[in-house]
Amino acid sequence: MELVTYPHRALLEKTRPIETFDDELRSRIDEMRRIMHESEGVGLAAPQVAWSAKLLILNPGDDPEADEVLINPTILKRRGRVMGDEGCLSFPGIYVAVERAKEIDVRYRTPTGEEKVETRADFVARIIQHEIDHLENILLVHRMSPADRVRVKRDLEALTRPTG
Ligand SMILES: [Zn+2]
Repeated sequence: MELVTYPHRALLEKTRPIETFDDELRSRIDEMRRIMHESEGVGLAAPQVAWSAKLLILNPGDDPEADEVLINPTILKRRGRVMGDEGCLSFPGIYVAVERAKEIDVRYRTPTGEEKVETRADFVARIIQHEIDHLENILLVHRMSPADRVRVKRDLEALTRPTG
């Protein structure tokens, strides 16, 4: 596994739900955790490592033991709206303002297959919404305002330029 960046086609491939909660799943999750920490990201979705599965990981803090894994996540409810700047490991160096729900109720499965429903707010809710976007093939380029699109045009072009 390795991190892929825009415009890699894996970011736009349809994802499938996880149905088998086995050791292979858990070793893939460990690999994603390693990649997220090496890249100093706060979240990572499976398509970002070219794996077309409905799985995301996140950790907004410094403790690597605090990683969270959300499998087959669905947002049940959204409350409030808030603007905030977002980056993305698949768009290095690019930050744009995105409006998100302030609070969400999210249902997901854990790596052992247990179902959970939780209310998450603020920064963690923003990360989850950003990563669920990846599972639906929605990227920062699809969320940015027309003004941001103009502002980051050159940076985006640099990402899409072939590098030999
Ligand atoms: Zn992202």
